[in-house]
Amino acid sequence: MHTPVYMDNAATTPICPEAADAMRPYLKAYFGNPSGVYDLSVQSRRAIEQARAAIAQTLSVPDETIYFTAGGTESDNWALIGAAQSHVKKGWHLITTSIEHHAVLNTCAYLEKLGWEVTYLPVDEKGFIDPAAVEAAIRPQTVLISVMAANNEIGTLEPLEAVGRIAGKYGILFHTDAVQAYGHLPIDADLCGLDMLSASAHKFNGPKGTGFLYVRERSAVTPLIHGGGQEYGMRAGTENVAGIVGMGAAAQAAAQTMETRARTERRLRDRLIGRICSELPYVRLNGDRKHRLPNNASFCFPGVDSVSLLVMLDMAGISASGGSACASGSGMPSHVLTAVGCTKQEAQGALRLTLSAENTEDDIDYTVMHVKRIVNELRCASV
Ligand code: PLP
Repeated sequence: MHTPVYMDNAATTPICPEAADAMRPYLKAYFGNPSGVYDLSVQSRRAIEQARAAIAQTLSVPDETIYFTAGGTESDNWALIGAAQSHVKKGWHLITTSIEHHAVLNTCAYLEKLGWEVTYLPVDEKGFIDPAAVEAAIRPQTVLISVMAANNEIGTLEPLEAVGRIAGKYGILFHTDAVQAYGHLPIDADLCGLDMLSASAHKFNGPKGTGFLYVRERSAVTPLIHGGGQEYGMRAGTENVAGIVGMGAAAQAAAQTMETRARTERRLRDRLIGRICSELPYVRLNGDRKHRLPNNASFCFPGVDSVSLLVMLDMAGISASGGSACASGSGMPSHVLTAVGCTKQEAQGALRLTLSAENTEDDIDYTVMHVKRIVNELRCASV
């Protein structure tokens, strides 16, 4: 019997030992409210500031530009709604892409209900946006451009530097949802001309329900959560001390191991993609072969039902997903796969395998063996 194979790291990752060890004292002994004046509180405050500094260092930005949130969804909501509210005098127009996570897309839908106009840029068959299309969509009323760093379903890396140059040229705020990229690939906030960046700890071996928003200039956004004066008066609520400490440790560990992890992941990913594409008939590889997240492999198997495939993989001890974890179970073809031109039949046979550097070649070969067997069985059963 093969040990279980976890291939759903885009959905979430296990907490790394560095984060777990760093968090433990703040779950028990150091429980002080960081806003207090006594020593127990000061311990918590100090730990928060250390985590802030560690995260700021990974992006080469000042500490006070990092604001803690309850995860990627809150960070995305804050960036979009906060920027919109802060710039209503300038205009009522935002630009984003048609393949963003629902944390961005549904926030845009909310803003549309309030009267904002949103341009959803199309992508090509690999999932890339065209920077020239971003420039063409700009209006005098455009206040924000939001383009994800890496797509959560197909792994495509978007041309952030080119978009950043355009945003800078027109003096428009530029936000990126880096939830899948941060901790996995280097991001230079200045080089990309970023005003804001969203990240989420549980995607880089930190705890769930913790994230941050990088905001270069505080005036870019209004607060989204109102209450006490925490986070420089920008995000109210008693801080999730243990979560923040864990995220800081995870960010630091991720930065230190990024290069070697990415190299291992690329090697495993390329073996997985190479074998599946050459050993199975009628396979569509989603996204670009090379310019994708190091750990992402996304396929469509026409004639296969994704849910059956996932259940049968689970029976073989392999955890994987169809489109994104959030969309699976909805019965709707993924908006990302539709945007890259997949037919409904192709999108219904989607499989996303997102590995980690903890996986082995043996895990890859085991997964390939079962994907081949199950795809063949399901195709035979459907004719
Ligand atoms: N943005 C992207 C690209 C994601 O992949 C996710 C989660 O899958 C989110 C935002 C939401 O992050 P969180 O789960 O921390 O709310």
